[in-house]
Amino acid sequence: MAGPFDLRGKVAIVTGGNGGIGLGMAHGLADAGADIAVVGRNEAKSKAAVADLTGRGVRAIAVTADVSDKGDVAAMVERVVGNLGRIDILINNAGMSIRKPPHLLELEEWREVIDTNLTSAFLCSKAAYPALKSAGRGKIINIGSMLSIFGASFAPAYAASKGGIVQYTRACACAWAPDNIQVNAILPGWIDTDLTRAARKQIDGLHDRVLARTPAGRWGDIGDFAGIATFLSSSASDFVTGTAIPVDGGYSVMA
Ligand code: NDP
Repeated sequence: MAGPFDLRGKVAIVTGGNGGIGLGMAHGLADAGADIAVVGRNEAKSKAAVADLTGRGVRAIAVTADVSDKGDVAAMVERVVGNLGRIDILINNAGMSIRKPPHLLELEEWREVIDTNLTSAFLCSKAAYPALKSAGRGKIINIGSMLSIFGASFAPAYAASKGGIVQYTRACACAWAPDNIQVNAILPGWIDTDLTRAARKQIDGLHDRVLARTPAGRWGDIGDFAGIATFLSSSASDFVTGTAIPVDGGYSVMA
């Protein structure tokens, strides 16, 4: 792929890249020519994703790591630089949720969600920053949610983590603009993945309620993230930083 979206010669880390939205973004980056490090805890899933990505003609490696663990993250960055030579793009996508109202959520549950969704972005961004800076240009994409914007009685820690990720994005965008590192967030709407398949099993009528509330009239698909991730990873977005872009079929603008 030539032109402003060309990612040949670039190396991207995609946390949670072994499935769901992360894999959708990894597909986009690989199709634009980037080499990919797929990061997750499930080694078998990550190896399957790597086989899928190398089939698209790029180099890919699986890195088994818990992104909420500082030691794992340091080792992950070292392994990516050791194996793929550099880091140009970091996508902080790994995430999870625990469905409980605020008065029933335990401290350990709060910490698990905040650590997985928010502290992980801090750890990975800080660990990758020296490599991004020394490359002379870099891109970080953080994955938020509709709950970066809206309230939800059932997801207090998730909403706090996803609101926090937007403000963390803005802070890093301001801090690292002089290093030519752009930092942006993507806010997915309701996307068909393992995460929401679990929610659909628990909540009667969720599938149809999402359809009725989404102007596009459908659930999102992981393929909906290939283009936006490629744009935010490429030189086409060099003057775009600190933004939080909904990819939601219009969900966030529906009255
Ligand atoms: P999935 O459950 O399909 O994927 C989650 C990914 O995160 C998996 O690859 C998982 O890999 C990885 N992961 C989770 N915890 C850790 C950890 N501690 N360390 C390393 N990797 C981890 O979810 P989605 O694809 O739906 O979600 C991706 C992101 O998008 C999340 O941040 C989510 O909050 C966000 N999002 C999703 C929406 C949706 O509708 N699906 C809506 C809004 C936001 P492994 O199990 O191998 O560790």
